[in-house]
Amino acid sequence: MGRVENRRTPLDAFRPGAFGSLDPRLTAADLIAEPWLTHRALVPASRRAARVTELLDMVGLRDSDAPRLPYEFSGGQRQRIGIARALALEPGVIVCDEPVSALDLSVQAQVLNLLCDLRDELGLSYVFISHDLSVVRHLADRVAVMYLVRMVESGPTEEVHERPRHPYTEALLSDGRRRQRILLTGEFPSPADPPSGCRFRTRCPRVRDLSAESVPTPPPVRRSTEPPATTPS
Ligand code: SF4
Repeated sequence: MGRVENRRTPLDAFRPGAFGSLDPRLTAADLIAEPWLTHRALVPASRRAARVTELLDMVGLRDSDAPRLPYEFSGGQRQRIGIARALALEPGVIVCDEPVSALDLSVQAQVLNLLCDLRDELGLSYVFISHDLSVVRHLADRVAVMYLVRMVESGPTEEVHERPRHPYTEALLSDGRRRQRILLTGEFPSPADPPSGCRFRTRCPRVRDLSAESVPTPPPVRRSTEPPATTPS
């Protein structure tokens, strides 16, 4: 399959979206077949071209896209190649780390709908990591909110969105439309040197003296529909 001589540079790893994860010297077909080589998957060489065609079709690309290089694709198409690479090993679970954050809104919707369709067709589960809670709401059954490497709240997605319990979740969800916008002030602390007591206390609008000594543990995990609880501390 076709190759060109331009070399991957260290800066490629910092490019937004899927571009940084795709070797610019490899064609779409090479990129999709790469996991089989890396993981020594038992896909016979005679079957690989047909399987690449199937995977391209599954993510909404054409067979004629197989010999093209990453720079010839749009951002959304490159993300589809990334999804095809993930599907190549027929996983049960895929970790999607900010999969649409670098895309335009309209392209975001297309990629999210593709992920939903693939989940339903193939019975996949996703661990979906995002800063955009509206995207999480579209896709996830359950959500866990993290702050400074700690989970501060989790539960069924709709319940967390409708009745957030933790002040950080409230701030994330305050879009100024349905809820009054909550602007967090104060510096974001270093995860290597977190504040004593509650890690959110340096930015929490409801901070109390006790917050420097105690942490609301365990984090409020909701397993089913429950009445709203009182605010922590
Ligand atoms: S413990 Fe205090 S600082 Fe921490 S989230 Fe609750 S109210 Fe805010």
